[in-house]
Amino acid sequence: MDSKTLEARQRWTLSQKIDHTLGTIDTFVSRLGGLDKVYCSFSGGKDSTVLLHLCRVLFPDILAVFCNTGNEYPEIIKFVRQTQAAGAVISIIRPQFTPRQIWAKYGFPLIGKETADRVHKVRINPHSKTAGIYMGNGKFRLALKWRYLLTEPYETSAMCCNKLKKEPFHRFERETGRRPIVGTMAAESKLRETQYLRQGGCNVFGESPASKPLSIWTEADIWEYIRAQNLPIAEIYHKGAARTGCMGCGFGSQFADDTRFDTLLREHPKCYDMIMGYTNNGVSFREAMRKALQVNGRFLPDEEPANLFSIL
Ligand code: SF4
Repeated sequence: MDSKTLEARQRWTLSQKIDHTLGTIDTFVSRLGGLDKVYCSFSGGKDSTVLLHLCRVLFPDILAVFCNTGNEYPEIIKFVRQTQAAGAVISIIRPQFTPRQIWAKYGFPLIGKETADRVHKVRINPHSKTAGIYMGNGKFRLALKWRYLLTEPYETSAMCCNKLKKEPFHRFERETGRRPIVGTMAAESKLRETQYLRQGGCNVFGESPASKPLSIWTEADIWEYIRAQNLPIAEIYHKGAARTGCMGCGFGSQFADDTRFDTLLREHPKCYDMIMGYTNNGVSFREAMRKALQVNGRFLPDEEPANLFSIL
């Protein structure tokens, strides 16, 4: 699979994509040996809501699995319960530890997965070859503006996603022998696109079978499908959230157009205060976020200066 083929597929009409997705799901289920060998990964977000709807077109009783990370919007939990009540078969799994415990032990998820991981690896083994690569000037360098994180009193790492999301699903898969159908799209990020091109299609078999039947969809397709099917989605989208996922996560929050903390403070001020109070090595997430945002000339929503003179 090359990027031209992917782009051509991304230009398909929505009904072509729906046919493709249904065929992909059907093939995956039959190649794996039946419905009790698979599950639909359901986050309660709009993409996996579309995915579950399509899975249930073919298999109304397919098992959906939702991981309650402990960092979910109340609206997402409510939506998962409503989807269950409306007839979907949903199993709820949980991580072994809370976000507060994970952040205290492994560090804050700041900036982005790759940056946090590089900071973590350089900090634990500054003289390793890997650290040399990250501290160099090549493609895999740690950006200069984030190198201050190497000497902060708190840890930064990408372990949170492993502990709160990946591990519960891996445990579930080990215990049940089921394999996932997930709603990721190549258009979401360069990393997702590269993964899709490398795997060469929506279904992967072999040692770790997995299906990603929405791979060739775009954000616009998702919204078009939701409108066309009049599909209910989690209420948080109607309250201005551009994304769901974890309520309070530092990954990507430094960007100028990111409004997750504004939404969280407005809709769930107690959750906002609780998350800002999580600590690592005695430093609060608020302090760490404040510094990270300042690098990009930004502020936490409850620390915005009233006017220009307040920051001089
Ligand atoms: S998205 Fe952020 S808060 Fe959620 S599990 Fe991943 S790193 Fe943790």
